[in-house]
Amino acid sequence: MSESVTFSSLELSPAILQAVEKLGYETPSEIQAKCIPYLLAGKDVLGLAQTGTGKTAAFALPLLNNIDVKAKYPQILVLAPTRELAIQVAEAFEQYAKFTHGVKVLPIYGGQSYGIQLKALREGAQVIVGTPGRVMDHLNKGTLKLDRLSAMVLDEADEMLRMGFIDDVETIMAKTPADKQTCLFSATMPKQIQSICSKYLENAEHVSVAARNSTVESVEQVFWMAGHVHKNKAIVRFLQAENYDASIVFVRTRNDTVQLSEYLERAGFSVAPLNGDMNQQARERTIERLKNGMLDIVIATDVAARGLDVPRLDLVINYDIPQDAEAYVHRIGRTGRAGRTGKALLFVKRNERYMLKNIVRGTKSDIAEVQLPSTDIVQQKRLETLASTLTKTAELQDIRFYNELAEKLTAELGLSSDSLAGALLYLAQKQSPIKVEEVPKMPERAPRGDRNDRGRGDRNDRNGRDRNNRNNRGERSESSQDRERKPRERRSKDNGPVDTYRIEIGRDDGVQVKNIVGAIANEADIPSKFIGDIRLHDDHSTVELPQNMPEATLNHFKTVVICQKQMKMSLKK
Ligand code: ADP
Ligand code: MG
Repeated sequence: MSESVTFSSLELSPAILQAVEKLGYETPSEIQAKCIPYLLAGKDVLGLAQTGTGKTAAFALPLLNNIDVKAKYPQILVLAPTRELAIQVAEAFEQYAKFTHGVKVLPIYGGQSYGIQLKALREGAQVIVGTPGRVMDHLNKGTLKLDRLSAMVLDEADEMLRMGFIDDVETIMAKTPADKQTCLFSATMPKQIQSICSKYLENAEHVSVAARNSTVESVEQVFWMAGHVHKNKAIVRFLQAENYDASIVFVRTRNDTVQLSEYLERAGFSVAPLNGDMNQQARERTIERLKNGMLDIVIATDVAARGLDVPRLDLVINYDIPQDAEAYVHRIGRTGRAGRTGKALLFVKRNERYMLKNIVRGTKSDIAEVQLPSTDIVQQKRLETLASTLTKTAELQDIRFYNELAEKLTAELGLSSDSLAGALLYLAQKQSPIKVEEVPKMPERAPRGDRNDRGRGDRNDRNGRDRNNRNNRGERSESSQDRERKPRERRSKDNGPVDTYRIEIGRDDGVQVKNIVGAIANEADIPSKFIGDIRLHDDHSTVELPQNMPEATLNHFKTVVICQKQMKMSLKK
């Protein structure tokens, strides 16, 4: 079907066809072949297809084709979940419009100066591509008028909803003409999207491109029930026991990417975080280092890992369970690419069993249970690694000088060569000890008085810095993790960089996340969507707020009272 469709059979303008040819696109992808005719005809479209299937051109080409180039006002609005994606889509529009004269494309996103954006708006940009947050800002300021919009696209809709943009999206939609063309593109179809569709895309044409299951089939899938062992301890074990070239570990929040990465780094792994707080350049550098082997592990959020294509990735670890089967497929699709095989490991906590069931049902795949690798296996594995390093060194390096030195030392120190070898081996393995200690188990429910000692039992921490406060942050007990992670934490995503503040009120004072949100929102007039990740600890809490809070505001927050205690807010670190 799509094989027989050519771009020139799609009734696109010669200028657009020329641009497509210049880009080297030979034939339309399946989603393009199916969507373009509907979009050209002005119909609403709901497009469902995996990442990398060419969804951008599927809507950009026909919508560009239908633009009135003489009219100098916004005609097309594309909403995208992140800065990077907005820029990417805007660039694609620009490329496709290269030979169509009179089209102006404007990306609007946080972090870019308003001046540039206002100028382009005045000059009559017809295509606006933006993140919901910044588009809202312009609407509120009256600098962006959408009343003559002819088409609106929600790109990567699943991600946009997951990031908590639903309200913004609906507010924006309400300010657009009712008779405009509406399109929604998404890689997955969670329930929320279905309800958006039934509300705004009632008569839309549904186009879905079957997911290629081949990736899933080439990936061996297993899960581990996280009972009374810290996931941090467990992941170290698994990483030591698995044979892998490179691994991607998925966690829920941006904070977690940093914390787990620091934790694993201390355990001797070559690891880095990959999250939406990093700018495009920093992310690209991390991915490049992973590709060329300078890094072996990245700790990522779903958003940051979108579309990631690193052939040497052969182990996916779902440290935090994904939201649904679709997200799971997405994650494990980072491995087993291009005919290779891969392995996917899923950590499941006791209260997440139903999510595991959903995933198994949704993917129709077998996910076998595995046990935490035993100390024997890990020890065996470390011995193998050491043995292979020693063999390689003896074979490949010129060690004659050292051989002579060894002879000299045995003679001078009066040691047997066994004792010398033993002493050297001891030193060599110190960084990553061969002897594996049992992983300490967590009590099912820590007695209250014990809670403050949480995480002190980290005897596997090779640098012995475990008493350092920062080291324990990744060490929250599983049960408290649940209470600390609130869905709201993704919200601040598009609201620019954040700082973490500490307040001296914690769980022991009976505080709840909503009390903190309420106090901050009311006392400083900070809209709740700018309030990021909130974590409750026993005697204090932390909250992410937009960077560079004025001193006066911070001083005010020192005195604001919640649960009959002053917040005493201070900047963390
Ligand atoms: P998606 O939004 O589905 O993840 P994109 O629109 O970002 O995918 O496209 C992925 C890549 O495929 C881009 O680099 C794009 O230039 C390229 N591409 C899109 N359509 C075609 C095509 N018909 N032929 C060749 N390459 C294409
Ligand atoms: Mg896309």
